[in-house]
Amino acid sequence: KHVEFDVPVYACADPHVQYQYYMAKVEAAQAWSALGNRGNPDFVVAVFDTGIDIDHPDLADALWVNANEIPDNNIDDDGNGLTDDINGWNFYSGNNNVDDDNGHGTHVSGIIAARENGVGITGIAPGTKVLSFKVLNANGIGSLGDTVLILDVIREYKTREQNPADIRAVNMSFTSGSFSRSYQELITELGGLGIAVFAAAGNDTQDNDLMPAFPANYEADNL
Ligand code: CA
Repeated sequence: KHVEFDVPVYACADPHVQYQYYMAKVEAAQAWSALGNRGNPDFVVAVFDTGIDIDHPDLADALWVNANEIPDNNIDDDGNGLTDDINGWNFYSGNNNVDDDNGHGTHVSGIIAARENGVGITGIAPGTKVLSFKVLNANGIGSLGDTVLILDVIREYKTREQNPADIRAVNMSFTSGSFSRSYQELITELGGLGIAVFAAAGNDTQDNDLMPAFPANYEADNL
């Protein structure tokens, strides 16, 4: 009588999933079926943003924890130059406080990795971990220079012998109108570490080919 595309269905207990229209658009359920999981628990996504609400009920279990660092002892136990970097680092203020004083970074982290736990929403990859690099202040503003400094930290986290963080993706939900050679190189070098970079196209309904929004408009295979 008729022909139509089959649509996968999936059980998801989280109450706000009904409002997450984009899950169908990005075919999250198909991806989960193809992978056989909803995010590898060993994989880490580094989020460059305003920080993360480390006590959020949908995110507390999603936080990457630096097992080589003893919390709050004021010693750089793992010797990477960052003291007490437990859940990431605050590059804006130069300390270990990644708590979110804006809300944007928590929002973004939830879209990525909110747990499937009967609370709130479900992330695109609710099985993965998130690692916060706070590069934006309470007003959502930061500098490219701070962000470029993260490369060395990511390299150390990912290649350390004990308890490495298997960082597979970096999320950059911010834009700048300026091209930066340093930033272009950062993205390329992240690619060399096997890391995919996801960047915002901008919220202004503009054609990015005419009005570039960086970092989205850099040229890189891993972007
Ligand atoms: Ca450290």
